[in-house]
Amino acid sequence: MNILFFGPNGSGKGTQGAVVKEKYGIPHIETGVIFRDNISRGTDLGKEAKGYIDRGELVPDSITIPMILDRLRADDCKNGWLLDGFPRNLTQARELDKALKKEGIAVDIVIDMVLPREIAKGRIMGRRLCVNDNNHPNNVNIEAIKPVDGKCRICGGELKTRSDDQDEAAIDQRHNIYYDTKTGTMAGMNYFKELSKKNNGIPKIIELDGRPGVKEVTAELLSKLEA
Ligand code: AMP
Repeated sequence: MNILFFGPNGSGKGTQGAVVKEKYGIPHIETGVIFRDNISRGTDLGKEAKGYIDRGELVPDSITIPMILDRLRADDCKNGWLLDGFPRNLTQARELDKALKKEGIAVDIVIDMVLPREIAKGRIMGRRLCVNDNNHPNNVNIEAIKPVDGKCRICGGELKTRSDDQDEAAIDQRHNIYYDTKTGTMAGMNYFKELSKKNNGIPKIIELDGRPGVKEVTAELLSKLEA
């Protein structure tokens, strides 16, 4: 199963992505996580990406596109993948489609998590990252996934904030890119929605209301995946 997961930063994509990963036993590939991992290991890629990430800008396509296409060729992607954070603009969408077609691979499902901008912003600022596992969601502004005594609610690990999550200008910049229907992320998502229209509903499009609580969104997601 090959799945693209769209949603503005703060919509709960990471949290729900963990559910999808579990259901299909596929790797959850998050571009932002790959970049942050490189930054913390001090790699050349990390050094190059850091400035863009701190400002909330996209890392150039010349770096990001080959990095992701390469990741999709790894062994653990043989039975499918869940891409989260890619494509993030129209160029990336076209290049992904082109590369997949060349290898005879189809996108099966596109998930569109819909959330108003202001709500997404509040959630971003409350987000906390578990140092042990990126799939341990914690958020001080969301009751269902509040940390316990300041520690990860799942494993008790230390929690960190992302510097780009506490910078309002960087958040606004990321959302400007996401909600841009001309060349930004929504343009990239619409590219795949158009493909679906032309191709008898393949990929299948799943629209999710991101406003309810975590459990409600998960229930809606699972029922739509099974429909
Ligand atoms: P995220 O964790 O998805 O919020 O991503 C954090 C940052 O990583 C973004 O603000 C961008 O600077 C960078 N990034 C993530 N995905 C992409 C992408 N597909 N293309 C370019 N930059 C990206």
